[in-house]
Amino acid sequence: MSSDREMCGGPYGEVSECGDPAVFEVRRHDRSSLPVCPLHLGPSLLMGSGVLWPPEISLVARP
Ligand SMILES: [Zn+2]
Repeated sequence: MSSDREMCGGPYGEVSECGDPAVFEVRRHDRSSLPVCPLHLGPSLLMGSGVLWPPEISLVARP
């Protein structure tokens, strides 16, 4: 069943090539938060552009 859940933005937050539902949102500097799936949470913290450090992460959906 499809829903209005946000899709993962991928580890870089630029292109969405993942397609999984987002479970976390990573706050970023000067741009909108990056929605990511559990798999891409780690990579997005390390490689996403504008990610705050230390990271600020919100749980936005059930895994
Ligand atoms: Zn993903």
